[in-house]
Amino acid sequence: MPIAVLSPEVVSKIAAGEVIERPASIVKELIENSLDAEATQIFIETRGGGTNLIRVADNGFGIVSSDVPLAFQRYATSKIGSLDDLDSIDSLGFRGEALPSIAAVAQVDVLTRTAEELAGTYISLKDGVIVDREQKACPQGTVVNVRNLFRNVPARLKFLKSTSTENNHISNVVMQYSLAYPEVRYSLVIDGNTIVQTSGNGKLYDALVRVYGIKTAELMLPVGEQDSSVRGFVSSLSVTRSSRNYLNFFVNRRWVKSGLLNRATLEAYHGMLMSGKYPVAVLNIDLASKDVDVNVHPSKAEVKFRDERALFTTVQRTVRAALVSESTVPTIKRQSKPVDMSSPVSVKRPRESQGGLFAAESVTPVYCEEAAGAVDVQETSLPILRVFGQLAATYIIAEGPDGLYLIDQHAAHERVLFERIRAQRASMAVEVQGMLEPLTIDLSPLQVETLRDCGDLLSSYGFTIEPFGTLTYLVRTVPSLLKTGNISTTVMEILDSIGQEKEPSAREDSIISSLACHGSVKAGQVLKPDEIGQLVRDLEKTESPLTCPHGRPTMIRFSSAQLEREFGRAL
Ligand code: ADP
Ligand code: MG
Repeated sequence: MPIAVLSPEVVSKIAAGEVIERPASIVKELIENSLDAEATQIFIETRGGGTNLIRVADNGFGIVSSDVPLAFQRYATSKIGSLDDLDSIDSLGFRGEALPSIAAVAQVDVLTRTAEELAGTYISLKDGVIVDREQKACPQGTVVNVRNLFRNVPARLKFLKSTSTENNHISNVVMQYSLAYPEVRYSLVIDGNTIVQTSGNGKLYDALVRVYGIKTAELMLPVGEQDSSVRGFVSSLSVTRSSRNYLNFFVNRRWVKSGLLNRATLEAYHGMLMSGKYPVAVLNIDLASKDVDVNVHPSKAEVKFRDERALFTTVQRTVRAALVSESTVPTIKRQSKPVDMSSPVSVKRPRESQGGLFAAESVTPVYCEEAAGAVDVQETSLPILRVFGQLAATYIIAEGPDGLYLIDQHAAHERVLFERIRAQRASMAVEVQGMLEPLTIDLSPLQVETLRDCGDLLSSYGFTIEPFGTLTYLVRTVPSLLKTGNISTTVMEILDSIGQEKEPSAREDSIISSLACHGSVKAGQVLKPDEIGQLVRDLEKTESPLTCPHGRPTMIRFSSAQLEREFGRAL
């Protein structure tokens, strides 16, 4: 074909494709316009997953009558005027592309009025062309109705997911903006049902309650000081999700997707969460406008940071600081009356208390004043410990520079093995043992499917598993650290857990923690003195000695100051 310039109609459809991927993209663009118009109330309604109707109504400053047709011309915007303005964008929109793009793929009408005007302006467009225009009475603000989305682009219509998936995307957009602009009152009605209703009282915490529920919100930790450039909330270790979809970032109040910010946040949780588990985070990041380029993506969902490394470090450190209180060695809280050794000492475990010898009788803060003194509680590495022995065949008793330590032998060993396997895997040096007799295992159809899918991955960890009938398999080799007793349980558990993970890294984490769990010593297992010594030495060398791979503490500490006080030695 000879080279020819495309017709405006084709150009507008191509351009619309960049901005409008799915119904939720329209909801996003319209909400951004309402926010740019300083609306304090935004009402969103959709029908049929957004393909039948998307309506966004606001009480913002409206569009003057003479400008309304202009708003639908490509690159027509009231938000920037010159090249210089591009360097300091403080509005959400600036490209002048949303309304014309929407009008290219749907039927649109707008009713709008500014404070100065007596009557509102109504226009209606078909295929991007104005077909009706009149004056109409209306309150101040703007209502945009989008109907029959993609009806003229059947290819796009075909690519839409189910109505419920599109509805999920739509409600996610509204939730994101309710977190980014908690001072705005939002309501979202999908097919007649109210899905989101926020108060607009300006408190991020209250918006969190609306979006994630009170239970989750209560377990979120505030991040950043008053004047910090990174502020918001992140989940404590007891709240996890099985996908990264709960990481929300707003840069200068713009909702962005950013691999860098995802990684920085996850890095702060490194080693504290069970494999395949992710935190919830809502972080507002303030940057000088010269330090962030928002003009790199048609729907402005991605931005570019001038100094990525500095930002990564700031986010990681700020989030980590919020988490530190949970990851320090839990300290026994001082009792108001002398400790009666016949009754259990009150201990707060950061997560679900496990009962047993030190079962919590009353829950008290992990963080107590004396902990901040002698030992730097922000320290996540372990001091050198002198080991005394084993208690109840479950805990190791040791002495450190600041007091007495009780170490959970199973949790500690899990941590050691977790890091060891991870290192072996990274250097492709997983130790393998052959079975004297191949072990027969019967799998479920789902497990067989997972095995077919992940056979190579499992073999890189030392598993050789061969078919022996439809659902029967032979295990010929396993990683050396597995004890012979529980191999079939371990294999099944690994297949079940990786079957639920899609991401390769989550699958690997899942395998590693199952192996660490099944390979480690159990509670109730009597250990020889040199085994105990070795375990503690190994633990000291790990990167995150204070928690097991599932995020539970490996140890608790009684500080020296506390012991002195309890024995009445302190002045
Ligand atoms: P952009 O937001 O990038 O400027 P749009 O196509 O989204 O481009 O909108 C074009 C123009 O229409 C905006 O610059 C703004 O002046 C006007 N506009 C759109 N929506 C609204 C609204 N809800 N309230 C007031 N003005 C609006
Ligand atoms: Mg816009």
